[in-house]
Amino acid sequence: MEKVILVRYAEIHLKGLNRPFFERLLADRIKQALNPVHASVEREQGRIFVYGVPEQEIAASVDKLCRVFGIHSVSVACCVAKEWDAIRDAAIAETRSFAESAQIPTFKCFARRSDKRFPMTSEEICRELGHDILEAYPNLSVDVHHPALPVSVEIRQTNAFVYTGEVLGAGGMPVGSNGKAMLLISGGIDSPVAGFMIAKRGVMLDAVHFYSYPYTSERARDKVIELTKLVSRYAGRINLYLVPFTEIQMTIYDKCPSTETTVLMRRLMMKIAERIAKDTGSQALITGESIGQVASQTIESLCVTDDAVSMPVFRPLIGFDKEEIIEKAQKIGTFETSILPYEDCCTVFVPKHPVTKPKVDKLRESEALVDFEPMIQKAISETERMNIG
Ligand code: ATP
Ligand code: MG
Repeated sequence: MEKVILVRYAEIHLKGLNRPFFERLLADRIKQALNPVHASVEREQGRIFVYGVPEQEIAASVDKLCRVFGIHSVSVACCVAKEWDAIRDAAIAETRSFAESAQIPTFKCFARRSDKRFPMTSEEICRELGHDILEAYPNLSVDVHHPALPVSVEIRQTNAFVYTGEVLGAGGMPVGSNGKAMLLISGGIDSPVAGFMIAKRGVMLDAVHFYSYPYTSERARDKVIELTKLVSRYAGRINLYLVPFTEIQMTIYDKCPSTETTVLMRRLMMKIAERIAKDTGSQALITGESIGQVASQTIESLCVTDDAVSMPVFRPLIGFDKEEIIEKAQKIGTFETSILPYEDCCTVFVPKHPVTKPKVDKLRESEALVDFEPMIQKAISETERMNIG
C-alpha cells in the first residue's frame, strides 16, 4: 500500500486571491526541506500531498515537515483506490498495531468526501467503517467524544486516503511570503528565538554577527554558525555575515565616555547591520531584545539604538520574560548550543556603571567624537559571507 504524507496548511486559507502564490511557495519549501529525498509534491483542494518518499524515510520526513512554516499538521496516509474494499482494508491495517497495544482501546471514524461521485456519504462511510473495525478488533470500542484513535478517510478527486492521527506542524506562513529581514545574531539565548519568530511569519532571514578577535574566540564564532544552522532548519537558507568589530569596539573604549560604551557599540552594530541589509535586500532588522532585561534594553536605550538607523527594528521578544524565552529556545532546539560558555563581544569590557537612561542627543555627540565612517567601511569590506542551511 502506497504511503503518502498529507499536509494541512496553517494560515494560508486566509489569503484569498493570493492563495495560489502561498500554496506554490509552501510546496517549494516542502521540497527544499525534504531534499535530498526526491518526492513529488502535489497540491489538491486545500491540501498538499507528498508522494514517493521511501518507506524508511517517512518518519524523518515528517519530522522535517514539522519545521516548515505554513504547515498546520501532517498525517501519514495510505493512498488507495476509491473503492470500498480497498478503503476498509487500509483502515483495518492502519488500526492493527493500535488494537494490539492500546491502553485506552477506543476509536472514532472521521470521513470527508470532496469527490461527491463516491457512492457513500460521509456518515455512511463512518458507520460502515466503524462496524468493520469493531468486527476485526472486538477489543476496541467507539468513543465519539474522546477517542484515543481517530481513524480518518478522505475521498479526493484522485484517490482515497486513510490515516490514523496527525502530527502538529510549526504553523505560521511559508518563508519568503513576507519579504526578508536581517537578524542580529549573538551567541546568546535570545536572538535565535527572535529569528525563529519572525521567520515564522513568512519572513526570509539573513543574519549578521559581530566578533572581536582576539577578545572573542574562534569557538564563539563556531557557536554562532551552529546556532544559525539550527535556525535555518526552520527558516531555510540563511546568509550569515561575519563582521570584524574589534577596531570599532576598541576605539569606542578608548575615545568615548565609559558609561556609554555598550549603547554606542549597539548603535554601531545597528548601523553596519542596516548597511548590509540595504545592500542585500533586507527590509528590516531583528534583535533579541526585551524591555528592561539589561541596562542596554531600557526603553531609553532602545530609543537610542533605534535612532542609529532608519529601518524598522523588529524585537519579537520585547514583552517576554527570560524564562519564557528559555522555554521557547528549548522547544526549538537552540538552548543547549546557546548556553555553551563562549564570550560574546558584548560581554567583553562591560562598563561597571552603564547609563540606563541615555539621551539621544548626548549619545549622538559622544559618537561624533570619533569619525567612525572609515572603520565602518573597513569592517564591511572585511565581512565574510557564509551560506548556511
Ligand atoms: P542574546 O541572548 O541574543 O545574546 P542578550 O540578552 O545577551 O541577547 P545583548 O547582548 O544586549 O542581549 O544583545 C541584545 C541583542 O543585540 C541580541 O539579541 C542580538 O540581536 C544583538 N547582538 C548582541 N551581540 C551581538 C553580536 N555580537 N552580533 C550580532 N548581534 C548581536
Ligand atoms: Mg548577548
